[in-house]
Amino acid sequence: MTSATHDAVVSRRGLQLPHTHVDTIFVDGAWQPSRGTGRNPVTDPATGEVWGSVPDGTPEDVDAAVGSAQRAFQGEWPRLTPSERAAYLLRIADEVEKRAEELSLTNSRENGSPVAESAGAAANAAGIFRYFATLAGYLEREDVRPFPRGGGESVVRREPLGVCALIAPWNFPINLVIIKLAPALLAGCTVVIKPASPTPLSIRVIIDAVAAAGVPAGVVNLVTGSGRLGDVLVKHPGVAKVAFTGSTPVGRKIAAACGELLRPVTLELGGKSSAIVLPDADLDAMSKVLIKSSMRNTGQTCYISTRILAPASRYDEVVDMVTTTIAAGKQGDPLEPDTVFGPCATESQYRTVLEYVESGLAEGARATTGGRAATLSGGLENGYFVEPTVFADVTPDMRISREEIFGPVITVLKYNDAGGSVDEAVALANNTEFGLGGLVFGADEDAALAVADRMDTGSVGLNFFASNHAAPFGGRHDSGLGTEYGIEGLNAYLSYKSIHRKV
Ligand code: NAP
Ligand code: MG
Repeated sequence: MTSATHDAVVSRRGLQLPHTHVDTIFVDGAWQPSRGTGRNPVTDPATGEVWGSVPDGTPEDVDAAVGSAQRAFQGEWPRLTPSERAAYLLRIADEVEKRAEELSLTNSRENGSPVAESAGAAANAAGIFRYFATLAGYLEREDVRPFPRGGGESVVRREPLGVCALIAPWNFPINLVIIKLAPALLAGCTVVIKPASPTPLSIRVIIDAVAAAGVPAGVVNLVTGSGRLGDVLVKHPGVAKVAFTGSTPVGRKIAAACGELLRPVTLELGGKSSAIVLPDADLDAMSKVLIKSSMRNTGQTCYISTRILAPASRYDEVVDMVTTTIAAGKQGDPLEPDTVFGPCATESQYRTVLEYVESGLAEGARATTGGRAATLSGGLENGYFVEPTVFADVTPDMRISREEIFGPVITVLKYNDAGGSVDEAVALANNTEFGLGGLVFGADEDAALAVADRMDTGSVGLNFFASNHAAPFGGRHDSGLGTEYGIEGLNAYLSYKSIHRKV
């Protein structure tokens, strides 16, 4: 299928994607020309063809966007009651849902996420806006704390931090902005968004929804451009807080810049999470959730558990189950509804993943399925497809066992479960620089919970993984700083003020 036929798929559904080749940014409540003349291409990773382009933004664009957000922060937005802002969030949620198909197809053409995945993006985004709307009451609650020794009391105010820079990666280009945007807006902050270079278009559909919901001009702004532009935004004097999701190396640079500036920052970074298979695990049940928990979005999901830790007593059985399950998932055109695995999102990611596959083979791991680039036909010949790959006989020192691959590669390691001990599994799971996700598969839920409690990581799933909008999500160690989701995620956009008075 060529890009032209991808266009045909889109128009067969009676759609014209609202944003393809564009030369605007969103500032002061309107699409307006970028101050620069450069353009960045948007490539369909399933076909290798360029189907869109956006401005390669300039520092003047960042100035304009931050200035717009600063003016809006001086205006009515932070002075509305939280309930009034929550009403906007609910309207945005409705407007996002009206655009579900445009969002899904734009997202899938930007990063190759199968439509089975991206079709849920609008509902998920709407769900996040609706969840944060429920927290208006928390912000409105009077918080008066008596001095413990008497004689006075303090009125504790929770105030919005100001202009927030929201910087997102390409793997879930909608969700990873919304999880910042929704709490920032409820808190009363204004924002400037910088999406990742491969995925600058789907977020424009969200901006359309924000505008249609009547959010005041300047509250939400969008610039597009490279990591250099992101750096300009992070360091801009008008920015009060940075919220970043992306790789650990870039996260360190942003943390250093924010450290120098004493600027609050939230960092959601990389991961290398483990699924501990307990000796009593139900492997049939595990096979039903495996793709979602260990290879979601063609392995391009930060929290998935791509290291399967299998008990020696059942190692071959686990390898067989993982291999059969992964090999059965259809790889193909992301726009086909039954596609499970798409391409890597970018050419450079494709090369990185293939390099990891090569390193796994060179270090002596055994590919039980996959292990090479995939050659597809029907217009997908130039797509960035790597065969979904399972490596057995993986040892803890191999690069594929330690480093984040961010592609369709699962490693299966063996732990010694003699006498029913899972100590070695816990030690292996915790022996990484990261600490983002994790899973425990086991029939005895109490025993599984006890193992989860020993894992040094921000989230753990018992027999499945799903994130919960109401529960904190964040990484330890090289996986980041701070928290998103839940009241904890809202607090990251607030500054506290204590007003003391005598009583
Ligand atoms: P990335 O290279 O770190 O880029 C993330 C964003 O930062 C992009 O918008 C990028 O712009 C921008 N950027 C690059 N250099 C910058 C700089 N010096 N200052 C400010 N911004 C800069 O990450 P990615 O390759 O897009 O995404 C993959 C990574 O994201 C993986 O490591 C994955 O684990 C992580 N991730 C983490 C989570 C989580 O919640 N913990 C969730 C999803 C993904 P350009 O695109 O223009 O370079
Ligand atoms: Mg990158």
